[in-house]
Amino acid sequence: MKITYEKPIVEMQGDEMTRILWDWIKQYLIEPYVELKTEFYDLGLVHRDETDDAVTREAGEAIKRLGVGVKCATITPNDQRKVEYNLKRLYPSPNGTIRAILDGTVFRTPILVKGIVPYVPGWTKPITIARHAYGDVYKATDVRIDGPAKAELKVTTSSGEVKTYPVHDFDGPGVLQGMHNTDRSITAFARSCFNYALSVKRDLWLGTKDTISKIYDGRFKAIFADIYEKDYKAAFEKAGINYEYTLIDDCVARVMRSSGGMVWACKNYDGDVMSDMLATAFGSLAMMSSVLVSPDGNYEYEAAHGTVTRHYYKYRAGEPTSTNPVATIFAWSGALGKRGELENNKALVDFAARLEKATLSTIESGYMTGDLAAIFVSDTVKPVKLESEAFLKAIADRL
Ligand code: NAP
Ligand code: MG
Repeated sequence: MKITYEKPIVEMQGDEMTRILWDWIKQYLIEPYVELKTEFYDLGLVHRDETDDAVTREAGEAIKRLGVGVKCATITPNDQRKVEYNLKRLYPSPNGTIRAILDGTVFRTPILVKGIVPYVPGWTKPITIARHAYGDVYKATDVRIDGPAKAELKVTTSSGEVKTYPVHDFDGPGVLQGMHNTDRSITAFARSCFNYALSVKRDLWLGTKDTISKIYDGRFKAIFADIYEKDYKAAFEKAGINYEYTLIDDCVARVMRSSGGMVWACKNYDGDVMSDMLATAFGSLAMMSSVLVSPDGNYEYEAAHGTVTRHYYKYRAGEPTSTNPVATIFAWSGALGKRGELENNKALVDFAARLEKATLSTIESGYMTGDLAAIFVSDTVKPVKLESEAFLKAIADRL
């Protein structure tokens, strides 16, 4: 008998090679065991164009309504894609559209497997980066100063009061930048981080530079501390996990010396830089999972990589491709496991765990896609490179 559950999961189909992998993953790894109940949205570029992108917004609203979604990688169109797909217009990134609807934070976690060795030998547990995806230098006013000039910050309140703050007296050319963040966005970020740390039962760290940016970064520190004391301290203690704030310098040093395992909340720029460092240090972008968590507790799972266009063109030309499906499998296991957890459905939670275990043990026993075979290290196991479909069948055998 197949495993069943109550509330549907929002399923968002995508583009190119990952669209092909998506159907195989369902066919070989999920549908034989689970009576899949999904609300289906085709976010493939063709259908986004047909619906004037309404389908993306509807999918975002559906996640708000149903609480759990799983998304395939999608093309963010540029001018070249506009010609390739004969598009009516250039649609925005679906991830951006959905993030704006859910108001969430993106959590990225490497998928660890024996044989793929992190460059930092001490890291035996995954490190999750929680990146604040609003404001700071990403929404700044960037100015070139041509010659001697007096720079000031001018703030006009809604009641018309004007305040001016000195920035710098330039005696020659230079540069200037004005940036901002909002209490509302920082608060949403903090809640998403606390909810996520609780859901995975791991410590949460926040690091900023509040010794230098006493007011700006100090605001992040204060909002996190405030919300923690008020709404999360008891739940953290009950779950046996900690929240701590440290200076970003100290945070970096301690992460390097640690065995991993923490959720690391980063301001926008820090998260951008640190997540690329982590993905590389842990081995491969194709082994990076990603989940968007909204402050009111909705979850959208996806792979961190794109639609793997180069492989898709080969696939379409009838050539064999060895595209790594692991992050997309983990998007499915993440969504099914979360649905199981929300419904106290042990059979579904156990299935999600078994799916992940079967995937990892297939790789550990030597069967993997080309990207991993190229970096696999073992004294006893000789890596065998499989095409995507054969790799999925090998996982199905174990499952
Ligand atoms: P990509 O799809 O991530 O692929 C870049 C390269 O990384 C690939 O050519 C491949 O290297 C390697 N790679 C990535 N994922 C892999 C996997 N699962 N297995 C094996 N190798 C993998 O990035 P892109 O080529 O820059 O972008 C392609 C499209 O994806 C774009 O239209 C972009 O808009 C979209 N995109 C979507 C998302 C999303 O939906 N979340 C994110 C990023 C990009 P080799 O070619 O050397 O084998
Ligand atoms: Mg980056």
